[in-house]
Amino acid sequence: MPSTLFTPHQNRRQFLNTLLVGSTALAFGGLIGSRPARAAAANPFTLPPLPYAENALEPVISARTLNFHYGKHHQGYVNNLNKLVEGTSLADQSLVEVIKASASSNQTLIFNNAAQVWNHSFYWNSLNPKGGGKPSGALAEMIEKSFGGFEPFKTEFAKAATSQFGSGWAWLVQDGDKLAVVKTGNADTPLVQGQKPLLTIDVWEHAYYLDYQNRRADYVAAVLDRLINWDFAAQNLAS
Ligand code: MN
Repeated sequence: MPSTLFTPHQNRRQFLNTLLVGSTALAFGGLIGSRPARAAAANPFTLPPLPYAENALEPVISARTLNFHYGKHHQGYVNNLNKLVEGTSLADQSLVEVIKASASSNQTLIFNNAAQVWNHSFYWNSLNPKGGGKPSGALAEMIEKSFGGFEPFKTEFAKAATSQFGSGWAWLVQDGDKLAVVKTGNADTPLVQGQKPLLTIDVWEHAYYLDYQNRRADYVAAVLDRLINWDFAAQNLAS
């Protein structure tokens, strides 16, 4: 440190005092201001990028469907959530924390939008342009143990997806030492049921109506045969 700055000794002390007073003032300024000292960023939740191009799932799911589904529906849930948590303590929390906190406190509007943000990100990753086929390794063994084989699993998953009345989701989840197929209505998610989601298919009409109209079963069968992302499920199982 150049000696010229702080000689004589008195000047150095004054300089340090000025620094301390300055930082104390800043801290109090934060406390008495309209925002807390560690203010939450505006719009803390963002739309994650799609893991592939909008036309990458064609012909099973069209670019037009993805454009609306990701660009309007998913983005809409993100925008709604940001508005709903603005100025609340939830704005500082992770998405999963917001889902769990709003579920346990019956803040339905926040839960619906937060869960839909998470569910859709999980759905995009549950699909892969080079997906379909069968799982292997530990995941295949657990499917065998839990459902009696891959074909019985597929039948049960397709049945859950097509029989969900109205809007919702079909899921493959880990529940304790077994796998299970579950369906949830609207925004509901197995995350708040103590289950670990491995895969999902969105069965809201907006997911398939432009491409399949009322033929939900055809959409579900095509996704299972050609898009479902077994690598993602295996990663989730191992995590
Ligand atoms: Mn959707």
